[in-house]
Amino acid sequence: MKSVAQNYQNRWEASLQSNYGIPNLTLISGKGSTVTDSEGKEYLDLLGGIATNILGHAHPEIVKSVTNQISKLGHVSNFFIHPGVIVLAEKLQSLTGDSRSRVFFCNSGTEANEAALKLSRKTGRKRIVATTGAFHGRTMGSLSLTGQSAKRDPFKPLLPGISHVTFGDLEAMKRKTNRKTAMVILEPIMGEAGVIMPPAGYLKGIRELCDQTGALMVLDCVQTGMGRTGEWFGYEYEGISPDVITLAKGLGGGLPLGAMIALGAASHLFEPGDHGSTFGGNPVACASALAAIKVIEQKSLLIKAKAHGAVINSELSEQPQIVEVRGQGLLLGIVLAEANSALVRDSLLSAGIIVNAPSPNVIRIAPALTITRKEVAKFISIFIKVVQGVSHG
Ligand SMILES: *Cc1c(COP(=O)(O)O)cnc(C)c1O
Repeated sequence: MKSVAQNYQNRWEASLQSNYGIPNLTLISGKGSTVTDSEGKEYLDLLGGIATNILGHAHPEIVKSVTNQISKLGHVSNFFIHPGVIVLAEKLQSLTGDSRSRVFFCNSGTEANEAALKLSRKTGRKRIVATTGAFHGRTMGSLSLTGQSAKRDPFKPLLPGISHVTFGDLEAMKRKTNRKTAMVILEPIMGEAGVIMPPAGYLKGIRELCDQTGALMVLDCVQTGMGRTGEWFGYEYEGISPDVITLAKGLGGGLPLGAMIALGAASHLFEPGDHGSTFGGNPVACASALAAIKVIEQKSLLIKAKAHGAVINSELSEQPQIVEVRGQGLLLGIVLAEANSALVRDSLLSAGIIVNAPSPNVIRIAPALTITRKEVAKFISIFIKVVQGVSHG
């Protein structure tokens, strides 16, 4: 007899394009950090819709805020003001610490980076420096910034004038950046590449380089942003601030919302007519984002993200099958001693834990900031059992 899950997989295959491959699970419902599949099996969700469900699933404050907003006014376009878009922009402005900063709203990470790319052209310069391994999105502009050849190569020619240098290598960045450089773009912690932290002083060095050359320093905080690292944006560990911040993923509390925030002098580069988005700043997405930010503040979730991250790090680092746990807060890459991350991921899934495997020896977790101590403990104990079970050592 065919299972319900198989039926969904067959229909997916017959009706959706094959760009993703066929997923293993069909998810039906979720509450907090737990999701339930089409067979009624429950999973602890440590991936959070790829670092997106910052408050987990069906958080009551998000449900309330979104329900109120969609019952009142669902969409207006940017021909009109609605109060939520201003309140959210003001909130983000205050989180950057720069009252001169200005926000542009869109719907996804790739769009936020496209906006940064266009903003950089308004400096009158055209050259860009990005980093190898970085992920900035899949649309043609952002794909040109992305530093992963497997994603880029089938779609060449891409935008000209973009150099990629090794992430973490400040000297390489210095060699490529000059007075013709419109922007330097990088992730404060590379997420898709396997949660890679640059060496201490790297972001500071890039800040100085951008100050010297006049290039915009753009930090892609799409994955690190909105509290995930235990800080609001994910670059704070270096004590600098960029010229442009791009956000999406956690920003909308699970709804599609992206933002490109320009700080300081960069905040007025866009002029009327330069850019736009029909859905960007949609009232329902803004209501969801505002609820998420409110809960993060009221429940001290930044502090909790750091605390949970520290527990996972210290407990898992002790295992002989684990080389290190890297990242910050609740964006963690668990580096395995063997290149068996796909097997570990699949075994975890059978044991009721959802994670992903961004590279052959790395398991990534990016759970909801609302994850409980008990859920963290459960994850740690199952993870240890699984890596012990699949290792050869
Ligand atoms: C996911 C991601 C993007 C792309 O976001 P989409 O919403 O999928 O377009 C861009 N940059 C970073 C750092 C990301 O993690």
